[in-house]
Amino acid sequence: MTLTEKILARAAGKPRVQAGDNIWVSADVLMTHDVCGPGTIGVFHREFGKTAKVWDRQKVVIIPDHYIFTADSKSNRNVDILREFSREQGLPYFYDVIDDPNGNWVYDAAKGNLRRQYGSRYAGVCHAALPAKGHTRPGEILFGTDSHTCMAGAFNQFATGIGNTDAGFVMGTGKLLIKVPETMRFRLEGKLQPGVMAKDLILHVIGEIGFDGATYRAMQFDGPGVTSLSMDDRMTVANMAIEAGGKNAIFPFDARTAEYVDARVQLNGTKSHYEPVEADTDQSFVYDMVVDLSKLEPTVACHPDPGQRKKAREMGNMKLDRAYLGSCTGGKTSDFVEFARVLRGKKVVIDTFGVPATPDIVRDLQTTYWGDKTIWDVLVDAGVRMTENAGCAACLGGPVDTFGRMNQPGLKCISATNRNFPGRMGDKESQVFLASPATVAASALTGHVTDPRDCR
Ligand code: SF4
Repeated sequence: MTLTEKILARAAGKPRVQAGDNIWVSADVLMTHDVCGPGTIGVFHREFGKTAKVWDRQKVVIIPDHYIFTADSKSNRNVDILREFSREQGLPYFYDVIDDPNGNWVYDAAKGNLRRQYGSRYAGVCHAALPAKGHTRPGEILFGTDSHTCMAGAFNQFATGIGNTDAGFVMGTGKLLIKVPETMRFRLEGKLQPGVMAKDLILHVIGEIGFDGATYRAMQFDGPGVTSLSMDDRMTVANMAIEAGGKNAIFPFDARTAEYVDARVQLNGTKSHYEPVEADTDQSFVYDMVVDLSKLEPTVACHPDPGQRKKAREMGNMKLDRAYLGSCTGGKTSDFVEFARVLRGKKVVIDTFGVPATPDIVRDLQTTYWGDKTIWDVLVDAGVRMTENAGCAACLGGPVDTFGRMNQPGLKCISATNRNFPGRMGDKESQVFLASPATVAASALTGHVTDPRDCR
C-alpha cells in the first residue's frame, strides 16, 4: 500500500484498502474557521439537534483567520458565532481573536491595519497554526473545512479539505465515508540550488501535470531528495496539492518530522502519541515522476491558473504593480527570511506587502537580529508594508478594506500565495503571478518579474 492507503486502512480498521474503495474512517482532528465554521455549526445543529455535543471536544479545533481584520460587521460576527459555540461546547482548542470569552470581536479601523489588534490566544492562518499548536501528528486523519488542509500532509498525515455538510457530520460522529484515492508518486532526487525554493518545486510539478492533473488523487512526495527539505519546505509543497486538484499530499516520516512534531506537542500540551506510516514495497502508483531538485529553476505560475508555468527568466518583460508575501504557503518565518535576504539594504520600487501567517512568526521576525536590525526592520527599511495582523489578508481577496487587497482592475501582482484564479486577490480584472518568496523579493526590487539569481 502507498502511504495514503496505509493511513486510510488503519483509520477504517481494515488490514488493507485499495484505490476506489469506499470506506468509513475515523477522524483524529476536525478543523474549521470563521468562513466555514458558522455553516458547519448550522449543519451540526440541524442534523444532531440544538443541544447536541460534538463527538470529541479534544478533536475539534477552531481557528478564526480569514476575514478578521476588517470593519465588515458580518465578518466580525462570524468570529462571535465561533466563540459562542466553543463556549457552549467547552472546546479547549478555540484560538479566539480576543481574550474575553464573553466579549464581541470588533475590528477598530481607526487604529490602522499595521499594528496588532488581537489577543493572546489568536493563532493566525489555520494551516500554519495547526502544526505550530501541536495538532498535526504523523499517521493521523485531519479533516478541515478549507481546501488547503492538505498542507498537513507534510507531517505524514492524511489531511484533506471537506465541505460544511461533511464537516457537520464529522462534528457529530467523528466519522466520514471517503473513496480511497489513487496515488501519484513524485520521487525527489538531488537538492535545491541557491535561489530556488520549495515553491519552485511545487510550481514545476503543477506545471507538469496541470491544475487538474491530480484530481481526487493523492500526491506522494518521496525519494532521497526529501531529506534535504525542511518542514517548512514540505508544508509549502503539500499546501499546493489542491492547486492540481489533489485529494491530499503526503510525505514520508523522518527525523525532521519527529523533531518538529515532538517539540510542538510538548510545547502546547497536545496529544503526544502518534504512529507514523512507512512505505510498503508493493506500492502501486497511477503516475510516477522523478524530479531532480538540483535542476529546478525559479518558476512562476502565470494568470489565470496555477498550472500556467514559466521560468522567471523568461518573464522579464512582465511589468508588475505590486508584490505580496504572505499566506499559509508563503508567510512562514523561513519565507520571510529568504524574502529579507534578497531585500536587505535595497529598496522596493512597487507597492510591497508583507503579512506573516501567525503571531508567532511576527514575534520571530521582530526578535531575530541581523546585525543591529531585526528582520522586521530590514523589511520595513526596504519599503515593505509589514502588518502585525497575521492572517489570510488579501490571499483570498476578502472584504474591500482587507490589507493588500487588489481593489483596482488591471493590477498585476507577484505573490508568494498559492492560488491565482481570476479575482482571487480582489478585483476580478486583476492578475496574480505565483512565485517563491525569493522571486517575489527580486521582482519587487525591479518592478518586473525577476529571477532572484540575477539580483545578488
Ligand atoms: S492564507 Fe490563503 S490559502 Fe491559506 S487558508 Fe488563508 S485564504 Fe486559504
